[in-house]
Amino acid sequence: METRLLRLYGRSDLRLEFAEVAPPRDGEVLLKMAAGGICGSDLHYYQDGGFGPVRVREPIIPGHEAAGYVAALGAGVSGLAIGDLVAVNPSQPCGTCRFCREDLSIHCQHMRFMGSAMHLPHEQGMFRDWLVVPAVQCVSAGTLITPGEAACAEPLAVGLHAASQAGDLEGRSVLVTGAGPIGALVAAAARHAGATAVIVTDLADAALERALAMGATETINVRHAPESLTAFENDKGQFDVVFECSAAEPALRSAIATVRPRGLIVQVGVTGDITLPLNALVGKELRLIGSQRFDTEFALALSLIADRRIDVRPIISHHFPINEAVQAFEQAGDRSMASKVQLTFLP
Ligand code: ZN
Repeated sequence: METRLLRLYGRSDLRLEFAEVAPPRDGEVLLKMAAGGICGSDLHYYQDGGFGPVRVREPIIPGHEAAGYVAALGAGVSGLAIGDLVAVNPSQPCGTCRFCREDLSIHCQHMRFMGSAMHLPHEQGMFRDWLVVPAVQCVSAGTLITPGEAACAEPLAVGLHAASQAGDLEGRSVLVTGAGPIGALVAAAARHAGATAVIVTDLADAALERALAMGATETINVRHAPESLTAFENDKGQFDVVFECSAAEPALRSAIATVRPRGLIVQVGVTGDITLPLNALVGKELRLIGSQRFDTEFALALSLIADRRIDVRPIISHHFPINEAVQAFEQAGDRSMASKVQLTFLP
């Protein structure tokens, strides 16, 4: 059997190709893919050939947030049935390294994260019509939701993991800087965790409208109304927690200025080196912590999406068939219009 797939050879060089698909082996399943979201990292690979120190150094099949239907079961697979809609967890920790043994598989020293150019050889991703994958990476999505919604389990898991870094958010006042898909999903996760005020900032009104639909209580366009955010700097800062999702230096500066003394800043957005005012970090006794990907939150994310306790539909802005992937990636790069752009596969 043959599959169509996307392969990225370098900046702006994305090709539709064909490859043989082997039948699923023991413990594996064959999936007929149905939806795959373009993530910021996929977009950076396409637009810039990478981000920070992570560079596309050999051809890579992108895509790490996808869902499909079980089409065949390898030997020994239980708990899945042909026809099930599943979301694929792209994390493949080794299970044996120091951090896996410490129950910290998120920091696995040999993590194979599908569609990632972080290590050589690159891990191949999910933008293909047919995918053979270990059954343990497949989580059932139930029967209520669309494949596109199921494919949002991965980015929502990122949002839930970020929210979990902040501890108890019940009754808290939260700022989210950056209203791309991750920022909007962090806002949804913060509301789900009980935050009473979730203010979201961005430069694009369309993104802020989606954040409102995802549960933000207030939005601020910091291009058009920066004074609305600086008002939160009063009395040494108002927010209990800031989730910085833009990876923009001015946003991190705003976070430091608007968070209360002893407040927490969770850095979710990723970029290379930037500078920050250590005097304010020290003077306000702030905590600044990073949040990478997700751990056990993947199944939780899918369960929240599967019964629409968190309804992800507002962030899904566009669909393109796999053979129009270049248009899809170009669309994803237009933040004035796009939020989560997804590919679709065989009908
Ligand atoms: Zn490991």
